[in-house]
Amino acid sequence: MRHFHTTRFRDIVGHAAPLDAIATALKGGRLAHGLLFHGPEGVGKATVSDALMRRMLCQQTEEEHAGGAGFDFGEEIDGDRALPQEACGACASCTRLETGSHPDLLTLTMEEGRTRILVEQVKELSHFIALTPLLAPYKVAVVDDAAEMNLQAANALLKTLEEPPPQSLIILITRSPGSLLPTIRSRCHAIRFQPLEEKALYSLLCDRMAESSEGEASRQSLKLAAQLADGRVSKAVELAESDWLKNRQELWQEMARLCGPQNRLALGDVNRLAKSWAAPERFNQGVELLELWFREQIHATLADRSEQHEGLPPPPPIGGMGNHAAARQWLELAERFQKMVREQRTFNVNRQLMLETILIEVVRSLPRLQGGGGRSIV
Ligand SMILES: [Zn+2]
Repeated sequence: MRHFHTTRFRDIVGHAAPLDAIATALKGGRLAHGLLFHGPEGVGKATVSDALMRRMLCQQTEEEHAGGAGFDFGEEIDGDRALPQEACGACASCTRLETGSHPDLLTLTMEEGRTRILVEQVKELSHFIALTPLLAPYKVAVVDDAAEMNLQAANALLKTLEEPPPQSLIILITRSPGSLLPTIRSRCHAIRFQPLEEKALYSLLCDRMAESSEGEASRQSLKLAAQLADGRVSKAVELAESDWLKNRQELWQEMARLCGPQNRLALGDVNRLAKSWAAPERFNQGVELLELWFREQIHATLADRSEQHEGLPPPPPIGGMGNHAAARQWLELAERFQKMVREQRTFNVNRQLMLETILIEVVRSLPRLQGGGGRSIV
């Protein structure tokens, strides 16, 4: 899943500045014919574009203001955000959109098997946008990702942006505005999207997974998903919906047990753990999780505990805090593991054997990492 769509402005979490810019422009009847939504992957550009497209296709406001000079789309106030007025969801145009296709909407993306958006596609857009709207007050075209246009395509789009038809809106969406022609950028009203704050992501996940987010363990999982998603809605939802968090929790518990306060290495435990993650359908995720586990050990060894995110479990109590020598040891183990993974993939080494080897190395290193006496193997 690439984008997480909601259809209404009021359902969009965060993005106060972009929504305010859009509301202000709509209210004053000064919405540019070309908008450039730019910002990191997965933060919600397409979601806002979706809500705006719906607003622009809705007939309701046009009917109310028929005969007047220019549209006043009004705005709604939601907490400290000014939101553009929503599409009505009931008019002929809104209803048509629900059926899947709309004669006044064109979405341009890279075609399957291509590496660029081609000039033929942009010519189709230019032709489309110049036609009189059939149902809606506007013709709306969305280009996602606009930086995928080749030079010819970009030049063709520039022509349309230079002389936009009166009742038209083109929304360009991109992760890399720097790759667009400067002349295209200067023809558009650029609206910048920022990664969402962890808190906003968390509240979005709680809303979205209301039924399944009962219970403290599940809330902790959602907090963790919000923390690991780098401000990207799509990533947070993907993490929260997949079994990744559950598996992470499982592996962390198993590793904590293995590295726990015992003085003997139980080969039986190592064997069971390695076997359960060596299964073909789990192995790749297991490798990814173990790499993350090593990173967390390094981080936990160096980190100040006060940096821990509220509500998340503290790092496993292994490795001395602020101990650079221990961090180096963890780093060596992590590198050793990465080398084993490469070898496994190149030479098709037995997966279980590879996992057993690294787990034994971890347990053998614990005395040096934790201080104290040696550890015997049974
Ligand atoms: Zn409507």
